[in-house]
Amino acid sequence: MMALHTRVAAGALAFTLAAAAFARNEGDAALIAARQKFFGVENVDVVTGAVAKDKVILSWLTNTTYAVSVRGRIVLLDTFATRLEVAPGRTNFVIKDMVDLKPEALFLGHGHFDHADNAAYIAAKTGAEIFASQETCEVMRFDLERMKKDPLIQGNAVTRIDPAATVSCTDVTTTGSVPGTQLVRLRALEPDVCILAFRHLHSVLVPRDPDFAANTTPVVVDPRDATLFPIGIRLTPFNPPLPGQMDLRSAIGFGPNPGGPVAIAYQFVLRDDPHFTLLWQNSAGALKEGKGNGWDGTPADGARLVALMRRLPHTDVHLAPVSTANYPSNALRDTVMYQEALRPKVFLPGHHTTGTIGAEGSSAPLYVSLLKQMSLMEAPVAQWPGFPRSEWPDIRWTTDPTDYARPIAFDPKERSWRRDDDSRWPNWDKQNRVRQFCSN
Ligand SMILES: [Zn+2]
Repeated sequence: MMALHTRVAAGALAFTLAAAAFARNEGDAALIAARQKFFGVENVDVVTGAVAKDKVILSWLTNTTYAVSVRGRIVLLDTFATRLEVAPGRTNFVIKDMVDLKPEALFLGHGHFDHADNAAYIAAKTGAEIFASQETCEVMRFDLERMKKDPLIQGNAVTRIDPAATVSCTDVTTTGSVPGTQLVRLRALEPDVCILAFRHLHSVLVPRDPDFAANTTPVVVDPRDATLFPIGIRLTPFNPPLPGQMDLRSAIGFGPNPGGPVAIAYQFVLRDDPHFTLLWQNSAGALKEGKGNGWDGTPADGARLVALMRRLPHTDVHLAPVSTANYPSNALRDTVMYQEALRPKVFLPGHHTTGTIGAEGSSAPLYVSLLKQMSLMEAPVAQWPGFPRSEWPDIRWTTDPTDYARPIAFDPKERSWRRDDDSRWPNWDKQNRVRQFCSN
C-alpha cells in the first residue's frame, strides 16, 4: 500500500523565508551576476535579479546537479560540482556563484558526495531549505556543525558561517523507508508547483541480464582532455591548505553515511495548465531485480516502483543518469527501464562527469551508448513490454564542459506539452492525474 504524506510546516516556512530573502536582495550585484551566469542575461532582470516568470529554465552544473528557475522560483537539484576549484576553470563557476544565486530550496537526490557535497554550506549561507531523506538530513546538521569549527571557512569574511545558523532540512522519506511506499507531496514551491517525491533505487551492479543483447559501446575519456583542460587548485584543501581552499564535503567524520544510497526522485508539476512536468532522479537502480545500493530487494520492489511511475502525472522533461554502477554488467538498461516507465517527451542526461563510468570527457561515447541501449530494448522480450522508437523521448544531450551553466529554457505554456490528439500523452488523462495527486 502507498500512503500520500504531506510535509506542510516546513514548506510554508520556506516560502516565507524566500519572500523575505528576495526583498533583501534587490539591487544585489552578486545575485544578479550569478543568476545571469546560470540562467542567461536575457532571462534575468538587470535591476532586481528576478528571473523570467514565464519560463522553466534548467542550467546544468556538472554531474546530476542543476540550477532551476521554475517561474522565477530558484532551486538547486543536488549541490555537488565536478572539479570545483578555487577559480573558474574547466568548471566555469565557483562555490560562491552557487551561494550568490540565493536558491530558496535545495533538493538532494541522495547523500553520496557526488550529490550532497556543499549542501550544508549553501543552506547556511543562503537560508535555503534542504529536502532530503531523514538519514541525509541528520548528516546535513552534522556537516554544518563541522564547518562552523573549520578555521578555513570561519577565518574568511566571505565564507564565514554565522555561529547561530542552523540547517533547515525537511525529511522527505523516513529512516529505512521501503522504496515506492511513501509518495510525499512537498509544499516548497506552492502555489506555483506541486512537488511529488518518492524513494526509488540507487544504482547497483547486478548479474548480466540475458534478455537483452550486450551493449559493447566502448566508453573512453577523450585523451585530449587532460591537456586541453589543465587541473587548477581544487576547492577541497591539500595539506597545507592553499588560499581559497575549504572543505565543504558532506559526511566527513560522520562515519558510515546512512543516507548515502537512499535515493529519492522528485517530480515538479506546474499547477497552471497544461501542467508542465519535470522529473529528476540522480541515480537509477535495477528495477527488474528490485535491487539498489543499500536495498537488497526483490522484483516486487521494482514492480511497485514501475507501477507508481506509470500512475504519476505524465512527465514532460526527464533528467536521469546515463552512467550507473550497473554499467559493467548491463550498460544503460536501468536508465531505459525508468524512461519506459515514465514515457517522457524530452530526456536530458546526467551523471556523465563523475561516477563508475562517467568522467569528464566521456560524454560522446555515453551518448552513443544510450542510443544503442534504447535500440537493444525496442522489441518486447519476456517480461519487458518493449520501447518502440516511436515512443522515445527527444534526447537533448549535454556535453562537458561546454554545456555547463548554459540555460535550457522551456515555455510551460507551449502547446507541445498538451496534445489531446496524441494517444501517448492525452491531456485529459494528465489533468485527472494532477487532480488525483496534487489536490489540497
Ligand atoms: Zn550515489
